[in-house]
Amino acid sequence: MTAVVVLGSANLDLVYDVERIPAPGETVLSLGFGAFPGGKGNNQAVAAARAGADTRFITALGRDGSGDRLAREARDAGITLLDRRVDAPTGTAAIFVDRRGENSIVVDSGANAALTDLTGPEREAIGAADVLVLQLETPIGTVAEAVAVAKAAGTRVVLNAAPSGEVPHHVLDGVDVLVVNEHEAADLAGPGADPMAALTGRGCAVIITLGAEGALVGLPGETPVSVPSHKVDAVDTTGAGDTFVGALAAALDGTGLEALVAATGFATAAAAIAVQRKGAVPSIPTLEEVRAFRD
Ligand code: ATP
Repeated sequence: MTAVVVLGSANLDLVYDVERIPAPGETVLSLGFGAFPGGKGNNQAVAAARAGADTRFITALGRDGSGDRLAREARDAGITLLDRRVDAPTGTAAIFVDRRGENSIVVDSGANAALTDLTGPEREAIGAADVLVLQLETPIGTVAEAVAVAKAAGTRVVLNAAPSGEVPHHVLDGVDVLVVNEHEAADLAGPGADPMAALTGRGCAVIITLGAEGALVGLPGETPVSVPSHKVDAVDTTGAGDTFVGALAAALDGTGLEALVAATGFATAAAAIAVQRKGAVPSIPTLEEVRAFRD
């Protein structure tokens, strides 16, 4: 069983179904409402745990009902939680979804912004893990600190560079596997560059996810390998990327191209199941479901 530590965000997603998204100054009535666990860190931790990894999740929550709910649901998903309770509201995302499926989102990082200065137990957990998973919804100084702790301990680092943002050189230098979608790849590589060539040129393995087309896997100095997705009827792609990253981390058990391609094949199967179901966390499959899907 792979030991995975995810360090990252946890939010309560407040989802409002609306006829149309309100214009400035306008008030509209919601057609339906639901509150769901979210945040890239939380989703990826659930995906790793459901994929069979021994999963620890380092995150910051407020001392409020939302924090209690996120903690409870993470534990219910089989995650060992290393949560800090801080004097800030638990992160939220207000999501308006209109009849055409278009959305507008406002995120309040809240407690997530207080995930700074790693504690002793957090450092120990990272050092004891096989794989550390990071995203960019956490203060970049903490991401850098976690990478340094992992490097010193020989823990492999998977960075999902999402949402798009700057990744300082000293952080990227410590990353073993970089996972990005096409937009994030283009942003990181810079204008005019071939994203795969530019990013593997930084010395790490790179996986570029391509939505319904699957993923491209590259290693420095090697010809990239295309891993096709499964042909399915997608009903909701929310959380596909997070499912992919968590499942990939759970399945990573080697360093060469062959091992990376095998783990990517597992991740594309997990994500293909997720896109056939509604929601983010509820759509994330278990190991048994992924195995049955691949048979
Ligand atoms: P999101 O932001 O929607 O969670 P993303 O932009 O981070 O996703 P994508 O490249 O869209 O990432 O999707 C991640 C993976 O999910 C893909 O590599 C693929 O394996 C799977 N996937 C996404 N969409 C589909 C689809 N329509 N059919 C099958 N698999 C899909």
